[in-house]
Amino acid sequence: MSILQAATTFTPPPPGLTVPEVVLDDEFDHPTKLPRNDGVPCLIDDLYGRKVFLQDLRLSTNSMAKAFKKRWNIGNEETVGIVSPNHIDYVACVWAAQRLGALVALMSPALTETELGHQLKIAEPSLLIAHPTSLNTVINAAKKYGLALDRIVVLDASTKTNGNYLTTGMLVEEGSGLPGITFYSAGYFEVQASDKIAFLCFSSGTTGLPKAVAISHRNVICSMLQIATYNRLQSGATPRYKPGDVCTGFLPFYHIYGLMFNLHFMIYSQVTTIVTDRFDFLKFLKNVEQYRITHLAIVPPQAILLCKHPAAKVADLSSVRSCLLGAAPTSAEIIEQLLNRLPGIDLGQGYGMSETTGAVSKWPIWQKVGVFGSSGRLVPGTFAKVVKPDGTLAKIGEEGELYVKGMQICMGYYKNEQATRELFDDGWLKTGDVVRFDEDGELFILDRIKEFIKVRGFQVAPAELEGHLLAHPSIADAGVVGIPDEYSGELPLAFIVLQPTALEKARNDTNASAALKDEIFKYVADAKSRYKRLSGGIVFTDALPKSPSGKLLRRVLREQAAQLKRPA
Ligand code: AMP
Repeated sequence: MSILQAATTFTPPPPGLTVPEVVLDDEFDHPTKLPRNDGVPCLIDDLYGRKVFLQDLRLSTNSMAKAFKKRWNIGNEETVGIVSPNHIDYVACVWAAQRLGALVALMSPALTETELGHQLKIAEPSLLIAHPTSLNTVINAAKKYGLALDRIVVLDASTKTNGNYLTTGMLVEEGSGLPGITFYSAGYFEVQASDKIAFLCFSSGTTGLPKAVAISHRNVICSMLQIATYNRLQSGATPRYKPGDVCTGFLPFYHIYGLMFNLHFMIYSQVTTIVTDRFDFLKFLKNVEQYRITHLAIVPPQAILLCKHPAAKVADLSSVRSCLLGAAPTSAEIIEQLLNRLPGIDLGQGYGMSETTGAVSKWPIWQKVGVFGSSGRLVPGTFAKVVKPDGTLAKIGEEGELYVKGMQICMGYYKNEQATRELFDDGWLKTGDVVRFDEDGELFILDRIKEFIKVRGFQVAPAELEGHLLAHPSIADAGVVGIPDEYSGELPLAFIVLQPTALEKARNDTNASAALKDEIFKYVADAKSRYKRLSGGIVFTDALPKSPSGKLLRRVLREQAAQLKRPA
């Protein structure tokens, strides 16, 4: 196999457009564009049933943009950060900032103060929008980072202040009374939209700490239209996504999967998303019945619940027509069970990463099963090659690292030239994933050579946990790897070399050893997001495997982890 090219051609949109111009203003032509049906809501709030239509989004986006400009003079090249779970007004905040040429940094509401501090230092926002449940963490992190507290806004539709803080509802109300302004347009500013950053999304990439992936307006627009082109081609008499369909909306909007799928592709396709702030399986089943949900967009642990949870066996899932899986591998066994539970369903997987603005491949018309399910075929406009460890190109069926090219591939890591250089090889993005293609062009993701661990679809950077562990007084050295887990996919496990005094104590007294493990577990749990906990275990060891230059041999550590006896 030489270079593999998506089977279908992709018509790129005209350059010089911003995301809000495309999704909100309809200011462009594309073969995938459908006539707008203004009667279809874009979003429905899961909690209160509030419906938001495109014209509402346009109004609140524009009003908020005017208020951002008037109050803080937010403008080109500034960054606006959002720290929030899914919220019905989330996307209006995003587009309001982008209307002014600002970059939008998407941050998880699960972050602890220190984790958020790390991301603030990279993104340097001049305005932070915080959900009420994240407000305290945001205030504390902002104080340390040096952001004035009057630059924090609460993401809340209420038109009254939240304590000392303005709400987005107040800004929309204020902005609606302000005179019109000229919104940023890459075209007017003679900047190619390919060079204009729309989003900063956090990913640890191949190695090291989380970095901000710089995703341009053009990346977002192309990624969205590539998926639209692909689905249009595969649609027979019943299009896969059509106006009036209803989709789940619990994938976090701050992660590339929820961001691109729900907030861009679904809105573009005129499919209604049921916006849900956190995943609760029973509520999800109830929503399917209540809203007659036609499309599921889920991660593997949610597929496991659908197959194994007793409530799923009696739930009415008859409205569901299709189900998209992504963000982590799904075993062949779960795919088969899912097809039994939802017979006749259009089941597919998507593969991608933050650095590829989501989809690289998607959705076979049928679901092919190997060890894992196939992740579909390359989306239009994508090129791929598979590179073997000796640097030569793999043939069809052979394994190697996937390299990709296309208009959806990110610009690099924000203000991090070295990491950006390491991400690319002669213009090809190195995914860090081990894959193979079959003779039909279907992509199977087999393994990951990059460091990070995926827990329920969320990234955990070993370097981050190792750095934190090394600051513990009893720890001399630490290495973290992922171990397989049926529900979560992987769980972080730490190999720890103790300081001499702690070691002696732990050696002579099993109670002291167990107590120290509990203390270390809590030490991580107190400082890090929940999914980063050392739930895979803590192992005391005499030494970590290192190369002559002192580099941790993570592969050897992974092999050691695989040898460990796990409790039944
Ligand atoms: P993120 O940037 O958090 O989306 O993580 C991207 C990584 O998740 C990829 O490089 C893969 O390692 C993994 N991943 C995403 N989609 C899939 C999939 N369908 N099957 C297996 N692994 C996946």
